[in-house]
Amino acid sequence: MPALALNHRLELNMNSLRWMSCVAVAAAAAVTLATAQEKKAEKKAAEKKGLGYQTTPLIPGTKWHVHDGERPQPRIVTPGESFSHAAKAPSDAVVLFDGTDLAKWSKGGGAAPGWKVENGYMEVVGGSGSIQTRDRFADFQLHLEFATPSEVKGEGQQRGNSGVLFNGIYEVQVLDSHGNKTYPDGQCAALYGQSPPLVNASKAPGQWQSYDIIFESPRWGEDKKIAKRAAVTVIHNGVVVHHRKEYTGNTPHQRVGNYDNPHAPEVFIQLQDHGNPMRFRNIWLRMLGDYDDNAVKP
Ligand code: MG
Repeated sequence: MPALALNHRLELNMNSLRWMSCVAVAAAAAVTLATAQEKKAEKKAAEKKGLGYQTTPLIPGTKWHVHDGERPQPRIVTPGESFSHAAKAPSDAVVLFDGTDLAKWSKGGGAAPGWKVENGYMEVVGGSGSIQTRDRFADFQLHLEFATPSEVKGEGQQRGNSGVLFNGIYEVQVLDSHGNKTYPDGQCAALYGQSPPLVNASKAPGQWQSYDIIFESPRWGEDKKIAKRAAVTVIHNGVVVHHRKEYTGNTPHQRVGNYDNPHAPEVFIQLQDHGNPMRFRNIWLRMLGDYDDNAVKP
């Protein structure tokens, strides 16, 4: 074969090789793109189901993202039949709800709550708004009972969602966490977006559950810097799920909270309307007071 023809054939071969490698690269890129898109779609679907996020900021002092779905799910503990269920209020308690009316509560701004009261409990009327105590308290023991709807609807954050919020900004989550997976820092008894409960002591939908909560209000110094963080102890159905756990700040959705906005130690208690017909009953609180201080009044 003449040298010219050989060169020509070699060049042709090289060209087809280049073309083939281009096709291979393009195919690999298409596969990578498809995988990335699938992963993105999977993540979106998981987020939609309330299974968690990886795109949120890290929670200070932890390796977990806010609402991290990879965070370990708390161990399940079956609580005893009853603990403080239907507990009578002690003599020095402020009774916030005895099953008859919502006189101690407002929508905020003074308006009467839109929730209904029947059979000794109050029930969220979805869309009518969260309700809060008319009075404010600093450092107290709070007892309340709640039931998630017996008719199970939705999943993740959409199932039996409410919340107990102090000053409307420090939430102890209320959710149906009985056989309902969600991101651990958003499950029942979580300090929302900050800390899952030590264990999952939830009862089944429709059953009455008890919260005994000790809340210590935050305090700021004269320099407006936080001097004492808010802290809670939470006993859920007789099981300790937080032991003097400090809030790292307020508890917003998908963000890291802070203590940038000082407020008085006296806080209102808010029950959240998250659209689900949640029930609450038997709500009372006692001021903690201090040792050797007999002057403390509610
Ligand atoms: Mg909530």
